[in-house]
Amino acid sequence: MGNVLYEGKSKIIYEGPGDKSLLIRYKDTATAFNGEKKEELSGKGKLNAAISNLLYRYLAKHGIETHLIQAVDETSVLVKKAEIVMAEVIVRNTAAGGFSKKYGVPEGTALKNTVVEFCLKSDVLGDPMINESQITAIGLAAAEELAEITRQALRIHVLLDALFAKAGIRLIDFKLEFGRCGERIILCDEISPDSCRLWDGDTGQKLDKDRFRQNLGNVLDGYREILRRLQNAEQI
Ligand code: 5GP
Repeated sequence: MGNVLYEGKSKIIYEGPGDKSLLIRYKDTATAFNGEKKEELSGKGKLNAAISNLLYRYLAKHGIETHLIQAVDETSVLVKKAEIVMAEVIVRNTAAGGFSKKYGVPEGTALKNTVVEFCLKSDVLGDPMINESQITAIGLAAAEELAEITRQALRIHVLLDALFAKAGIRLIDFKLEFGRCGERIILCDEISPDSCRLWDGDTGQKLDKDRFRQNLGNVLDGYREILRRLQNAEQI
């Protein structure tokens, strides 16, 4: 592996072969509340890599360009190098988490339209919400880039919603990161139970990182169940 370029809470980024790629290794560390709660969950990296790779291959098949080039081993992926847009995108179907807390909407309330939010990507500041005029004002992205990011995020929402429905899972909300790669905006980072809320379609049971955040137990059983169901759904 090349030199470490950056170590984050759940991934390590290494120099890739050549100057157009990077190697990302998923760690077993689980964190929540901006790193205040932290635990090693043996096998989490492998599960998140497998789930994210499956979802990125599915999205690529449906016309979404992602950073994924190929899986290297069970926890590592080779990706296209991109300049990350420092605004994260959150898409919501159903009220939960920060949305429920901030706006006093009970968890599980169906939203009348899809919600798209942006957050400043900053651990130091705790990822505060930021609006489009603020993003363009401080130069995080141009208006045309934001329009393209929003278009792609909504398309990804439709595609993921359909796949998870086939897997008997409700997609409640999720977080995306995009990057600039040449002239294009591409999907970067990961889509995994760390970055999505996923509830069992029949029982409403939480299968995602809220198990860790809320001390519900059996965190990785939820992740394993998501992977198993996605693998089945892919074959339908
Ligand atoms: P909320 O704003 O309700 O806390 O989060 C909304 C959705 O985005 C949830 O699925 C949550 O897991 C995801 N999310 C928000 N911020 C982050 C983040 O900094 N990292 C990750 N991995 N996911 C996030």
